[in-house]
Amino acid sequence: MKNDIISLLPESVANQIAAGEVVQRPASAVKELLENAIDASATEIKLLIKDAGRSLIQVIDNGKGMSETDARICFERHATSKLHKAEDLFAIRTLGFRGEALASIAAIAQVELKTRRIENEVGTEVVIEGSVFKSQSPCSCPTGTSISVKNLFFNTPARRNFLKADITEFNHILEEFNRIALVNKDISFHFFNQGKEVYHLYKSILKHRIASLFGQAQNEKLVVLEQKSEVVDIYGFISKPEAAKKTRGEQYFFVNNRYIRHPYYHHAVESAFRELIPENYYPGYFIFLEVDPSSLDVNIHPTKTEVKFLNDKTIYSILNSTVKMSLGKFSLMPSLDFDHEPSFDYTPIRKDEVIRPPQIKINPDYNPFTSSKSIPADPLKFRQKPANQQNWEKLYEDTQKPLIPENPNFPAETDDKEFKNDRILFQLKNQYILCSVKSGLMIINQQRAHERVLYERHMQKIEAKEVLSQQLLFPQEVMLNKQDAGLIYEIKEELINAGICIENSIYHDDAFIITGVPAGSEEVNPVILVEEILEVFKNETFKQASGYSKFALALSKSLALKPGTVLKEEEMNNLIDELFSCSLPEQSPEGKRIISMMSLEDIGELFK
Ligand code: ADP
Ligand code: MG
Repeated sequence: MKNDIISLLPESVANQIAAGEVVQRPASAVKELLENAIDASATEIKLLIKDAGRSLIQVIDNGKGMSETDARICFERHATSKLHKAEDLFAIRTLGFRGEALASIAAIAQVELKTRRIENEVGTEVVIEGSVFKSQSPCSCPTGTSISVKNLFFNTPARRNFLKADITEFNHILEEFNRIALVNKDISFHFFNQGKEVYHLYKSILKHRIASLFGQAQNEKLVVLEQKSEVVDIYGFISKPEAAKKTRGEQYFFVNNRYIRHPYYHHAVESAFRELIPENYYPGYFIFLEVDPSSLDVNIHPTKTEVKFLNDKTIYSILNSTVKMSLGKFSLMPSLDFDHEPSFDYTPIRKDEVIRPPQIKINPDYNPFTSSKSIPADPLKFRQKPANQQNWEKLYEDTQKPLIPENPNFPAETDDKEFKNDRILFQLKNQYILCSVKSGLMIINQQRAHERVLYERHMQKIEAKEVLSQQLLFPQEVMLNKQDAGLIYEIKEELINAGICIENSIYHDDAFIITGVPAGSEEVNPVILVEEILEVFKNETFKQASGYSKFALALSKSLALKPGTVLKEEEMNNLIDELFSCSLPEQSPEGKRIISMMSLEDIGELFK
């Protein structure tokens, strides 16, 4: 009997396994093929997509092409022309070097490659399907390479079924395309989806490339960033604070011309903007860092976007001050305010200081919408104990201090006399309402409180199908990026049901005219409303939420009082009354804390 149980995996199986790592979705194949074209010194690249890359991804370049032999070998695993010996690893200038992409793609798709080098008169055509070599023959074709990848995942149904809706997969492709197009502004790109042109980008300077990708309106909203130093050279653009958006979309870091994700540097940029833009708004940025390649972790996986830097902390502080300086130079910083809150103070980073990105605690089970069904129709019933009390208790159980004092029903069961008639209210910095209560000091975030009130109001209306649309006197135009425009088309029906009338502009696929908003919300800025809606629909947290609650959330966020709104005592009183007649007065519709308590003991502690 044979005792040995170990055998080598057949090459095709090994390739399929590797493919799982390299090609998670159509967008990963797009990225690999575009990068190969760039590595081949192409100056013009054409990308054609069908069915979000499921049925076709084709990349045509005018790069250096391949010889007859190379055209066949390139599909072997570890076949690369970019790395010959271990030392080369330290001097890598190309995007790929592991020789895995083509082997992986060919393992899970039907691939046709046509390629010709300038020195050859005829080109060569190779067909390969699921790692099985089908044919190679001479062909006539222009210099360069054309690769078509058909029926991706045709032999791996599990992966195919794992793919998301077309719009999602297409957005991933767009995102990869954006990242590559931003870095390679000297290359002209022509991108077609279902035979329709998405982008035609000509060789240009960075600012123009940004505008071609994200809309001409971007142009005036960008501030240049430039700083050279020993550890890092910084170049790029940041958006002016007034152009900050409700969505995180347009934030890009590149290091040595490679896109990276870097939460720590992201924090460096965002914190430089902190006092200049409202909470929940995000600045756009396109920042290119140039560092000595030896100060980067060379062992980075080519498909991963995480990168380790040697001089992390130094780069953080240089980046932070460069952004501040640029904002200041364009006199965008507010004048010195001696009365500002100490917590907003910018403390310069000392040389050896350890800087940590902020830790955010998230309750993965929390769903802010589980409550939406429980809003009683009879407002009198609001004073009952909220049905999903456990939910908010759970939300806060890992914070050190209890949010609400001993009595979980607070303040519904608080002695009304003490709480209401003799309410002593004070508005702090036009952002918080301070209120003296039996057990100490209650601090209410006025914006979030208002969001909660509006949310429940809109939810009731939408559920009762009482939403009417109010035509706008002056229809407003909004220009969106491709991703957002696609989303609007997807949810058009729902938008109309929620009272938002929006039409496609005849001049541009990605421009829309808002002609009506839900009645009762005329004071909303329709553009901000649409941005809010997009953000809520894109946000993974609210994925499970009903369309209704998403609209109610977007409406409440765009209509809510903004920090800085002065409230009269009567208005504060009304807001508090309304808040406590909500079913969930403790949390904003997004699940953020509305009320904070400082008990008398806490206050006593301050004086010890
Ligand atoms: P890598 O890019 O890591 O070297 P790939 O599997 O992506 O590995 O490609 C294998 C090889 O095929 C490359 O090293 C290159 O020599 C060749 N190749 C791939 N795409 C092209 C292209 N568009 N033009 C010219 N050569 C290409
Ligand atoms: Mg490659």
